Amino acid sequence: MIVIYVRHSKDCSHKDDRYYRRCGCPLWAQYQFDCRQIQVSLKTRSWEKADLKAKKLQEELDARELGVVKPNDPITLRAAIETYLRHISDAKKQRAASTLRKPRRMMDLLLEYCEKQNPPILMLQSITPMLLEDWRASWKFKADSSSPQVHDACARAFFKWAYSMELLQRDPYAKLERYSSHDPQTLPLSVEAMKRILDSVNEVGLTPTERYNLRGLILCQRWSGLSIIDALTLGRNRLYPDNSIELYRTKTGEVVITALPAEVAEHMRMLSNGHAGYFWWDGVEKLDTIRQRYSTWLRLVFDHAGISRDIDGMALSHRFRDTFAVEFLQAGEGGRMEDLSKLLGHSSIRTTEKHYAAWTVGRRDRLRRIAEESFKLQQPIGLEVNSLGVKVQ
Ligand SMILES: [Zn+2]
Repeated sequence: MIVIYVRHSKDCSHKDDRYYRRCGCPLWAQYQFDCRQIQVSLKTRSWEKADLKAKKLQEELDARELGVVKPNDPITLRAAIETYLRHISDAKKQRAASTLRKPRRMMDLLLEYCEKQNPPILMLQSITPMLLEDWRASWKFKADSSSPQVHDACARAFFKWAYSMELLQRDPYAKLERYSSHDPQTLPLSVEAMKRILDSVNEVGLTPTERYNLRGLILCQRWSGLSIIDALTLGRNRLYPDNSIELYRTKTGEVVITALPAEVAEHMRMLSNGHAGYFWWDGVEKLDTIRQRYSTWLRLVFDHAGISRDIDGMALSHRFRDTFAVEFLQAGEGGRMEDLSKLLGHSSIRTTEKHYAAWTVGRRDRLRRIAEESFKLQQPIGLEVNSLGVKVQ
């Protein structure tokens, strides 16, 4: 319940009566919010205006309590966030629940920050660019972490959505500067580090079967470039007797086939789990659960091997994929980016370039050679030009 009261000036003759209606001193409201006593100026000296403002505030508090959204009514931040998370989980239902973890975490942080303000900010439309700037300044991340960009993107996406859904007249986040993004981290493992990791699998208290399965996963990721979840759910029928392996079917229906070293393929064939159709997955366990189980083991292994896992926002298993990618680009004359893009299952070669362009060796050399080969086959017409650009007859 909201109580309106007067904050009398020092020399007001009615200062003993908090509810005196006719002295014209500033009016304030007082109410309980989540076990806190909130006192907020109503920014008026008129009881009539104060009543209206208090009524509106009460509606906001009720809306937060009930979570009801009436069409065309201002929406509470809480209700907007719930709707948003439902909306994106629907749009992403083809994908792992883990892709929702960051948006959810960011929304929790935003809600917490807004409700902690004095007075608490309950309505979506009450959020100002200034508040968001302060909120961002309160984020705590390691200096070199990629998280600020990721979290910035999550928050930005929410307000963009709210604006496009016409829950907001303008997007308060749009005014905030983007966090400068540095290059995505790519951290391939050296041969020596890979060896230490594989050795450490034996040293972290896993059962023999767990060890065998984990080692198999590491080898599979390292030599196929599959993501952890794609590897864990890989079907046995995708590994052919000649050790070639079918990685994906792309959107165009094209099948991507590569090969595994014989030892890796053999190791995988000997894996046992509760399902005849898969190498790792038993067909029952939740995908998030199996991924987390293996990720936990990998943390133990990295720690035991003395390899830093202090890389915010990056899955350890991704480093095997990175290793595959970088080795692919650097082996021999160097693999082609287009091929790597297909092997990694990227939908666009730009993603591949963004992550791995820096690791291409001999790329310039190869283009130069191709160009030179091509020139040999072309007629040298038009090259008889002197230094002034005039064609020599
Ligand atoms: Zn007064």
